[in-house]
Amino acid sequence: VGLDDLQTSYFVHPDNAAHARRSLDVSVAIVARPDDHMVATDTVQIIVETESGVHTRCYLSSHAGIPFLIVYGRFDRVRSPSREIDFALTQRALSMLGIRTLVGTFVVGAVHAEDRAGTVVVPDNFIGFGGWSDESWKTRPEGFRNVEMFSPFCPGAREALAGSALRLHDPVYTDGSYICFHGWPRIETSAELAYYAQLGGRVVGQTLDPEATLARQAGLHYAAITAMMDDEEVRALFRTDHAEGAAALGANIRAGRKKTFATFLESLPQLAALNFAPCGCDQHVVSKRKRSGHFYYRPEHLIAD
Ligand SMILES: [Zn+2]
Repeated sequence: VGLDDLQTSYFVHPDNAAHARRSLDVSVAIVARPDDHMVATDTVQIIVETESGVHTRCYLSSHAGIPFLIVYGRFDRVRSPSREIDFALTQRALSMLGIRTLVGTFVVGAVHAEDRAGTVVVPDNFIGFGGWSDESWKTRPEGFRNVEMFSPFCPGAREALAGSALRLHDPVYTDGSYICFHGWPRIETSAELAYYAQLGGRVVGQTLDPEATLARQAGLHYAAITAMMDDEEVRALFRTDHAEGAAALGANIRAGRKKTFATFLESLPQLAALNFAPCGCDQHVVSKRKRSGHFYYRPEHLIAD
């Protein structure tokens, strides 16, 4: 049989996961769609069978001798409302593979009228408007707990991305809030944009909140890098000629993806070193004190040890 033309993949499942983590020895991952990089280098697909489904968008790559994992986009085969994206499956696959540091890349809308498409932003905070909810706690042995998000991003990962962005791109903001809006199949209205500007938002998108929250819950070093894809000029094009607007938006999306991925590659040595950083991101997993699955509202003095 001729299998030469078939794609080769690795298969990680619960029974070989420990061995796979040792063999792969990869600690950094990025959620991105770096097609040019993947064509130019030998990325290898890793199929991950988790206990709650099979994840098929992980690819192993390397840069400057440092291995890293690409999670190819957020949609699983079909385009869906962001509410239906299985963020928990992706996080589960990343945890199985031993990932410690995760960078989310996003093409986003500019909130302020004066900001232009192409601007790179490393947000330092976000506001969640998605009403998104993770149900995976129901099947986790430790039960439910709130995720502390007082400082939502890893300071070390953010510093690495901000430094690289300033070296590579212009204009760049190394702060600002990502407004996590949730409106597919529509994007934000002009009134919503004005509202987000009042709230101090700099960029708007639909997917950061769940990804960042699950990464924090898993004790990862997580940070985001975004590039603006639509601004007042693009919106004006859409109003006069929808095809022209769509073409401009498409070009901005491709250019934005290149910028955010280039920033990641430039930051990779620092991101890989975060494994041992004292930022405390990993404490979020071990801080769990007791199982809360069997929890009753009873006065504490009535509970015998
Ligand atoms: Zn950290």
